[in-house]
Amino acid sequence: MTKTPLEDWIARKIGLAPGTLTREALREYQFRRIRKTVAMAMDKSSFYRSKLAGFDPALIDSEAALARLPFTEPRQLREDPLRFVCSGLGSIERIVTLQSSGTTGSPKRIFFTKEDQELTIDFFDYGMRNLVRPGDRVLILLPCATPGSVGDLLRIGLERMGAVPLPYGPVHDPADAVNRALLDRASAAVGIPTHLLAMARQQNGARLKGQIKNVLLSTDYVPEAISRVLEERWGCRVYNHYGTTEMGLGGGVQCSARRGYHFREADLFIEIVDPHSGEPVPEGTAGEIVFTTLTRTGMPLIRYRTGDLSRLLPGRCPCGTVLRSMEPVKYRLSELIRIGELRLSMPDLDEKLFPLPGVLDYRAEMQWAGERAVLHIDLKTVQPENVDCEMARQALLTLPALQELYPEKLQLEISCNSGNFTVARGTAKRRIVQRGAPAKNH
Ligand SMILES: [Zn+2]
Repeated sequence: MTKTPLEDWIARKIGLAPGTLTREALREYQFRRIRKTVAMAMDKSSFYRSKLAGFDPALIDSEAALARLPFTEPRQLREDPLRFVCSGLGSIERIVTLQSSGTTGSPKRIFFTKEDQELTIDFFDYGMRNLVRPGDRVLILLPCATPGSVGDLLRIGLERMGAVPLPYGPVHDPADAVNRALLDRASAAVGIPTHLLAMARQQNGARLKGQIKNVLLSTDYVPEAISRVLEERWGCRVYNHYGTTEMGLGGGVQCSARRGYHFREADLFIEIVDPHSGEPVPEGTAGEIVFTTLTRTGMPLIRYRTGDLSRLLPGRCPCGTVLRSMEPVKYRLSELIRIGELRLSMPDLDEKLFPLPGVLDYRAEMQWAGERAVLHIDLKTVQPENVDCEMARQALLTLPALQELYPEKLQLEISCNSGNFTVARGTAKRRIVQRGAPAKNH
């Protein structure tokens, strides 16, 4: 098993020779950078100047000291992004606008300087070495048309490491994307899970078996069922990447052990906190991911709440690195539906629906009227003959949260169609749409 290339990359970034990184040295570096980031933010960002008034950056020398600083909430970014910007607008190279996934709220806008973009390219260069070698031909199925877009930065990172990037963009016509992979002899692909799944399940998708050796799925969470289908159909190895625009597009990537994500720990400091009390939780306990940027200059973020739930895996990764491993993210806090003591979320539905033959994607809507609910599932399949609503119903009813309600309080309405393949926008988050609210005792 190969140690993640991120370790020696991080060692070099903090001024150490390859093979000599220790957690102590990394921690010392991280707190030095946190103090610097907080001081800079208090000096240059009007948001942090008032938010952190009275704090002395020089005193932040431990996790406990950092935990005394207030969180940065996503809504604060939405309200007035310009108050976060620390460099002159002339030095901003790119602004990414993120539409809110809810029905209300203005979009988030994230600002990047050229230096910030360079950090991301560097991470892509070394992060991709976990699965790609020089000379490999890598199909990029992420937005890549605009300079500075995620796929464009990935292209540059791949070129630097000696691989051959094949920019394609998000998949709108899966059969066409497969043809392109065949013509261009792609040996690896990077994209969002449902797009790769749609390619693998096309009729011509089977022809990529043996040709595509490695796939990187990039999004906020990756359904395990999709990874399994890809591995079965193509005989490839599937790796996951976790990152958000706020993190600087890249966050963490799996190594050859494919256990948890290793983070770009020279650029990001990760905390896991209790989502209700806000207190840091012990290692190994699940909680909300909170991060502080260590190297960003355009729009540094301090203790930013991601709303994503995960935990740091105790013990060392089998690859042997001293870097932390974070369990793949499965849930977003805001998207957990409470049913009595139980919870229901899109990932729960994903694991039941994606293994069904021919399923490409689906929409889910939960409509509440008092204690009663109707769950509408609109399945999208490759061929009309794949449509089997009864099979979907049986699969869904193995979920404890649905069993709890069915049939007295829950109606399941499943429709299937195999028409045009409509793709979720770029990296839009998939979620259960809720109408109405469950009664208090649910
Ligand atoms: Zn590892």
